[in-house]
Amino acid sequence: MNKPIRNYDKADLQRKDLAHHLPAQADYGHIRDIGGSKIITRADGCSFWDIDGKEYLDGMAGLWCVGVGYGRTELADVAHDQMLELPYYNSFFKTANVPTIELATKIASLTGGKLQHVFFNSSGSEAVDTMFRMVRYYWKIMGKPERNIFIARTNGYHGSTTLGASLGGMSAMHNICDAPVAGIEHIMQPYKFNLGFDESEEAFCNRAVQELEDKINAIGAEKVAAFVAEPIQGAGGVIIPPNGYWKKIEAVCKKHGILLVCDEVICGYGRTGEWFGHQSYGVTPDIITTAKQLSSGYMPISATVVSSDIVEVLREKGGDFVHGYTYSGHPVAAAVALRNLEIIEHENLVSKIKNETGPYLAQALKRLDGHDLVGEARSYGLLGAVEIVSEKDTNKRFGGKEGKAGPIVRDTCIKNGLMVRGIRDSIVMCPPMIIEKSQIDFMVDTIEKSLNEAKDELAKI
Ligand SMILES: *Cc1c(COP(=O)(O)O)cnc(C)c1O
Repeated sequence: MNKPIRNYDKADLQRKDLAHHLPAQADYGHIRDIGGSKIITRADGCSFWDIDGKEYLDGMAGLWCVGVGYGRTELADVAHDQMLELPYYNSFFKTANVPTIELATKIASLTGGKLQHVFFNSSGSEAVDTMFRMVRYYWKIMGKPERNIFIARTNGYHGSTTLGASLGGMSAMHNICDAPVAGIEHIMQPYKFNLGFDESEEAFCNRAVQELEDKINAIGAEKVAAFVAEPIQGAGGVIIPPNGYWKKIEAVCKKHGILLVCDEVICGYGRTGEWFGHQSYGVTPDIITTAKQLSSGYMPISATVVSSDIVEVLREKGGDFVHGYTYSGHPVAAAVALRNLEIIEHENLVSKIKNETGPYLAQALKRLDGHDLVGEARSYGLLGAVEIVSEKDTNKRFGGKEGKAGPIVRDTCIKNGLMVRGIRDSIVMCPPMIIEKSQIDFMVDTIEKSLNEAKDELAKI
């Protein structure tokens, strides 16, 4: 593969970065103090390189998205060809373009059932915004405008627009802009390790589901529009729900006539070993939001997939759905996403996760379960988390409070050539779907080595 290896002027780039670029989700004072961001210059397969030429195994698939790995010439080629044929056209003027139509059809074939209609956007946050506006509008034209309250979960992540941050359940994200906006309520996350350590799985599951029922009753079922949740919480710490959770949640929604929305922005397109997370858990949502692996991050694109029941109502009673983005159905993004899904299909990546790499990761993580500093190592498909504790066989955290250990071990992993995320007191991973067993070994070995190296620093918290 022809990889451009260029000699960049690092000092000059860092100076300009600090002077003019505001990176996402960053502490700008800290970035200044450490002399600027790490500059990433190239990538191939499951690895990327920084400007110093240091290689990292990408345990996060970029940001939960680079499913097919880096350096795919076929995605570059399809973008090139589409840009020359039709680089842009909108879908505002009763218009559509070929890649968008083909991609919608492809997605509908993968979701199956009633999820047959696709609204395109450019980001996960926008997909969530589209969902929110469509659900409210749906209930309005159904003659039930009072059904306008959304229930979501603590530490859920639904994007970084004001609405996404509001629907999300992260207090740090709420704090910067007085979110949540009105009409959004949160219930507990099904985080057994933290919230139900001494409970049986079944008791914990029932308690977590009961919170939804209680919340619905407190609000009044006739006022609740939808329940929105990730099949497996990603940014919230790779929170894998207890057995039976999703089926019971679905039953509660059905009982109260509430729409079920799965935010599949991370789980979607194979990550869990099925095409979608809701398929892994055997439930049938009314709407799903998807992005990230839809294009493996090569182009910004997201899809809100809607059931035919809802679209039938929009067609009969809706009139203009006054919503849409300049880049809804962007032909280049759609063409790249379509080819990306074809790669996932041709290389059997979904069944590879289910039958090979997913079980292999689970087994590799079992090794870590015995480590002194590890309270739990869990995974589902190619999503994994390692809980760091100060006392074996407990869920006690270093320093007696939550949140400090993850970033320390993460920084040690990065120093050791592995990119992972530190979320509160856990290390989470979401490697490219093409990862091989030897690379999974490197990932888990590096986490183990980094835990050992970080021991002293952890003890100082
Ligand atoms: C990343 C993410 C989003 C937001 O996607 P953006 O493309 O960053 O706007 C929404 N929901 C979930 C579950 C996500 O992981």
